[in-house]
Amino acid sequence: MAAQQPAHHWALVVHGGAGVIERARMDAKTEAAYRASLAQATEAGAKVLDGGGSALDAVEAVLNILEDDPLFNAGRGAVFTSEGKNELDASIMDGSNLRAGAVAGVTRTRHPISLARAVMEKSPHVMLIGAGADAFGAQVGLEQVDPGFFFTESRWQSLVKQLQKEGRPVPPRPAGAPPPGPVVPVAQLEESSDTHLYGTTGAVALDRAGNIAAGTSTGGMQAKMPGRVGDSPIIGAGTYASNQSCAVSATGAGEYFIRLGVAREVCNLVTFRGLPLQQAADQVIHKELETLHGDGGVIAIAPDGQLAWSFNTPGMFRARLNEGGKLEVKIFNDEP
Ligand code: ASP
Repeated sequence: MAAQQPAHHWALVVHGGAGVIERARMDAKTEAAYRASLAQATEAGAKVLDGGGSALDAVEAVLNILEDDPLFNAGRGAVFTSEGKNELDASIMDGSNLRAGAVAGVTRTRHPISLARAVMEKSPHVMLIGAGADAFGAQVGLEQVDPGFFFTESRWQSLVKQLQKEGRPVPPRPAGAPPPGPVVPVAQLEESSDTHLYGTTGAVALDRAGNIAAGTSTGGMQAKMPGRVGDSPIIGAGTYASNQSCAVSATGAGEYFIRLGVAREVCNLVTFRGLPLQQAADQVIHKELETLHGDGGVIAIAPDGQLAWSFNTPGMFRARLNEGGKLEVKIFNDEP
């Protein structure tokens, strides 16, 4: 009889987006809310892994929570296009077999990451977009919602403010949106628009079977053109996973991440240059991305348990936890 494979220690890294997140501009209450949400989502993923669940299940569990959390730019709480709509992108990849699923421009499926997973597992394709993607979601029994479900007042005000500042037309308040909420003081709005500049969500996980997976879910960039697709649903750019190298989820100005193929690039440096994971992530973010003047960050994990994060913005919402370890939740770039 073959000797039993030793069990791996599970591990998990989560991000809630990178951007201009500055200590001086975030009040204590907002900071505490972000930390609590990141902790809650990470612990939910850890529970899956600790129960012997797969890396894929853990990634989906984490992102389902962040998609429902209005603090993050994914699912409910997503940013708006210049025409005042929420168009959601997501992707997921299984490092054990290189299977992947992605969706772009989704407007009705409550959990885009689950839809990406359904594309991977239940369709012959890797990527579906728009109405066809939502219709597939309905067909496989994923919860469909009115597009107004994704609306949040703070994202709306933030869009209005950006469009006014840029002298662009402000679209009518979307149908199905709740009546205007209480007036939020402008200072707070100013903060929140910067705070949420990128705000995408992502997770990478290693399970006890030694498999890794990555997933990313986002509303994209605020005031984006209708139909614009970022890096998050592009396999190799915003998301990548291979048991031969690493699993990566990215956040930042997607156009740069697509052009550099960031997620795959990090894994290539591990495979072909033999770089430790942290060095590979730093090389891509602090050298290659910066050369193009792009900004953002990545989280990464390797089958041997190496964890990494790297970003060139003032902050990135992030958390990590490994089996037997202590949960770490961080926001600003001066937190080690
Ligand atoms: N990368 C995402 C995009 O370009 C945005 C983000 O990370 O917040 O769509």
